[in-house]
Order: sequence, then C-alpha cells, then structure tokens
Amino acid sequence: MKRKRLLTFLAAAAVLAFSFLLSLWIDGQIEQRKYPPPPTTAETPMSYAETTLSPWQEWPLILVNRTHAVPDDYVPPLFTLENGQQYDARIYPMWQRMVRAAKKNGFLMEAAYCYRSNETQRQIMDERVAWYRRQGNSQQEAERKAKEYVAEPGHSEHELGLAIDIHAGKNTNAEQLFKWLQANAWRYGFIERYPKDKVEITGIAYERWHYRFVGRDAAKEMKKKHLTLEEYLGQVN
Ligand SMILES: [Zn+2]
Repeated sequence: MKRKRLLTFLAAAAVLAFSFLLSLWIDGQIEQRKYPPPPTTAETPMSYAETTLSPWQEWPLILVNRTHAVPDDYVPPLFTLENGQQYDARIYPMWQRMVRAAKKNGFLMEAAYCYRSNETQRQIMDERVAWYRRQGNSQQEAERKAKEYVAEPGHSEHELGLAIDIHAGKNTNAEQLFKWLQANAWRYGFIERYPKDKVEITGIAYERWHYRFVGRDAAKEMKKKHLTLEEYLGQVN
C-alpha cells in the first residue's frame, strides 16, 4: 500500500514537471513570434549605386540649379518631422545637432519647408503663373516672371531633400538667428545656399533662410573660401 502511494506521487510529480516544461516551451514560441526577425538586406533602403549620379557627385554634393536637373528617378530616403515636413533621413543627426547648438545660444528654429516632390514643385510653379495671368500678363510674360522666383520642376534643391527653409522659432529674433547660422552652420555640414553677393552665380535671389546640407568637409572649405556650391564644384556657367 505504501509503495502504491509512492508510485502515485512520483507519477503526479512527473506530470507536473512535464507540464511545467511544456509551458516554458510554449512561452518561448510566443516570445519568438512577438519579436520579428531583423530586416534582411532586401528590405533596407535603396542603394545609391542604383541612381544615375555622375562619379564625382556624392549625394551631399549633388548640384541642382537652372542648368543642372535633379537626377532621373532620384528618390531620397525620407524622414518625416513632427511638423509633417520631410527631408533626407541621412541629414537628421547633423540637423539635430545644429538645432541643439542654436538653442544653447538662445535661438529656436524650425525646418519650415524641406522636401518637395517634382509634382509639388510643378503645382507651385503653375499657381505662380496663374497669379501673374490674373494680374493681366500674357502667358509668356507670366511664365517669365514666375521663373524669377520659383525654380522649374526638376530644378529645385528641395526635390533632393537636402534643402531646408529655416524659420525663426518662438521669441527668436530672425536677424540674430540668421547671423548665427551664417557663422556656424558649416560646423554641422550646412551652407547658406544663396548669399546676397552671389546671385549672379547661383541664379537665385538672396534667400537667407535657405540652407543646404553638403557635408562637413565641403561646408568648412566653402565657408573658409566664401564659395557657392557651383564654385566649389567648378560648375560655374
Ligand atoms: Zn528653399
């Protein structure tokens, strides 16, 4: 009788141990399903070797102006900011550092206008032409006037995702902010793209708010020698 009780006890213990181990194994299976495996290379962003860039054109130095178009099928890897604006995700760390440095100096700033698709650029151009038409200009005249202010689709740096139109934030004096940026943006790889005294070279009216990422080395040299991107790349027309 005693022996029978011992056997029953052992059998019960074995069943308990088995179900405990089984539950551990099931938990493990669930854990594995909760965390998907890391993405494979096939899911990572597009390779820039696949874009049609000239060999000397590293992505931060792509030249876009009236005579140089955005490369065909160029699609930057976009990052969306809190305000809904987007820019090339690769400039995010440097932009953040610049924002923090500005803040330390008492300036708040916002990336007000960044990436625009070719379509959006076309809409902006069409709206501007329509506005001049309403002022009584001929179609040709309206187009000519619009082009003084709006880059043609395919020729705006904003289509690269590397240009940021900066607005002064709350309680920030715009004059002082832009003065600070002029002196310090190069440290973070950004340049004032359309300086007042370089309109003939850039072909764009003075825009103190338009900053362009070119990378730190290029920005440093351009700042030191007071060069535009066209001059730096030896692409002055
Ligand atoms: Zn701009």
